Amino acid sequence: MADSNNKSSNLMEDIVALCRRRGFIFQSSEIYGGINGFFDYGPLGAELRKNIRDCWWNDMVRRRDDIVGVETSIIMHPKVWEASGHVAGFTDPLVDCKKSKQRFRADQLFFAQVIVDDQIIGYVSALESGRTEDELREKADKLKRKQAAQGTLLPLQIREMTEARPEEIDLIPSPATGEPGSLTPPRAFNMMFETHVGALRDASAVAYLRPETAQGMFVGFKNVVDTGRVKLPFGIAQIGKSFRNEITPRNFIFRSREFEQMEMEFFIGEDEDWQTWHRHWIDWCREWLVSVGLPASLLSEYDHPKEKLSFYSKGTTDIMFEYPFGSQELWGIAARGNYDLSQHEKASGVSMAYFDEATRKKFIPHVIEPAVGVDRILLAILCSAYALEEVEGEKRTVLRFSPRVAPVKAGVFPLVKNKPELVGMAEALYRKLKRRHNVFWDTSGAIGRRYRRMDEIGTPWCVTVDFDSLENGTFTVRERDSMEQTRMTEAEFLTLLDDKTS
Ligand code: ATP
Repeated sequence: MADSNNKSSNLMEDIVALCRRRGFIFQSSEIYGGINGFFDYGPLGAELRKNIRDCWWNDMVRRRDDIVGVETSIIMHPKVWEASGHVAGFTDPLVDCKKSKQRFRADQLFFAQVIVDDQIIGYVSALESGRTEDELREKADKLKRKQAAQGTLLPLQIREMTEARPEEIDLIPSPATGEPGSLTPPRAFNMMFETHVGALRDASAVAYLRPETAQGMFVGFKNVVDTGRVKLPFGIAQIGKSFRNEITPRNFIFRSREFEQMEMEFFIGEDEDWQTWHRHWIDWCREWLVSVGLPASLLSEYDHPKEKLSFYSKGTTDIMFEYPFGSQELWGIAARGNYDLSQHEKASGVSMAYFDEATRKKFIPHVIEPAVGVDRILLAILCSAYALEEVEGEKRTVLRFSPRVAPVKAGVFPLVKNKPELVGMAEALYRKLKRRHNVFWDTSGAIGRRYRRMDEIGTPWCVTVDFDSLENGTFTVRERDSMEQTRMTEAEFLTLLDDKTS
């Protein structure tokens, strides 16, 4: 267990290092020491993100007849967030450590009583990780040894800090200092970023950076219905930045304070069978993730227990991905009833009713919402694509990206750089491919080294123009994963590229 956890944290370190080295992802404001929870995407990262977004937009919006796309503003009227419930309730439970000044999310901080025979000898605590249980057990063993307590250590009953009784708070050690007495009771912390609109900086000018893109689609629902020639059931989709002042941003880009969401609100009739649509969208999302290269074996589902759902929610299922740091939510698919539209109708006084011409009935539609983060998909793709392997006695790092999302689709090389006919022919091919695809030109070093450089950034194919090319017009096409080489004409290679990347 410990060994596999070491492997997982090494794997994350290797991936973070590769992302930095090859220009996928950097810390934001790096030269000033960085700012926690914010990231910059470099040239390859920006391409990868764009490809993920484009795949989603094409599959979710353009290729369907029942979904339209919108782009709504990041800052909206503050009343939107009152009506949606975010001002009052978009909170996470926060615990402060008064000594270290560190802050923790109470639902990610776990503790247990340490009981030897029938006596409580103290408490242990640990933050959520792939090995929280092991860590708590190790700490309990250590406490028992330290106190020289004789007897049997009972199995730990692990609880979240949100479940601590008031009299227990002072007895639970802070994960920062290891000592009890410095943690505060959990309190609600609102995660919305506040700003001011206009020249005045008083309370009347307060506005929020959106913490989700969904509300733009609910607030603009009427506009789309009135102008978009849409008929139930139909969806409104958008991609855009969201901001949450997360208490503990962590696991690289998994939980950040500025991130991008791809959300779709699928509206259905009030009497329609929501469960069938909910299942439809869960399956659609799973299949889509596989289509951009995630192995189906690393995906699972988690149904939120009924008692933890908001009062209006009919059901929420998360598609979980097996990240190196544990199985975590990647995509949430929520059946939200007609809560959001009803709330905005009440707060704005504008009717959100939909008139169904077939049944001659007027009602507020219900909604199924698949909501996912671009950055979480990108991290899942990076983690599952990464491999370090030995080939003919040499180590190679490879990112097995699906051609659909690979930032560079092909490397184009002349075999040698001092033969003008070869270079000219290769350059003509490069220019032609570049019209439709992101391809990379490389003339430096031995061919084997050029292949390795392309493997490391996940380029599916390398095309080498060699002496035979001058004779018969075919090129050597080397495939990244099998490393097999075949000869192809330009037309054959273009067809392969178009087929596999579209
Ligand atoms: P979590 O429980 O992990 O905080 P959530 O349930 O609050 O997530 P939603 O509000 O359902 O998340 O947001 C929809 C999707 O947006 C998530 O499934 C995730 O992919 C993405 N997302 C949410 N918060 C973040 C974040 N801080 N950083 C990156 N992506 C995020």
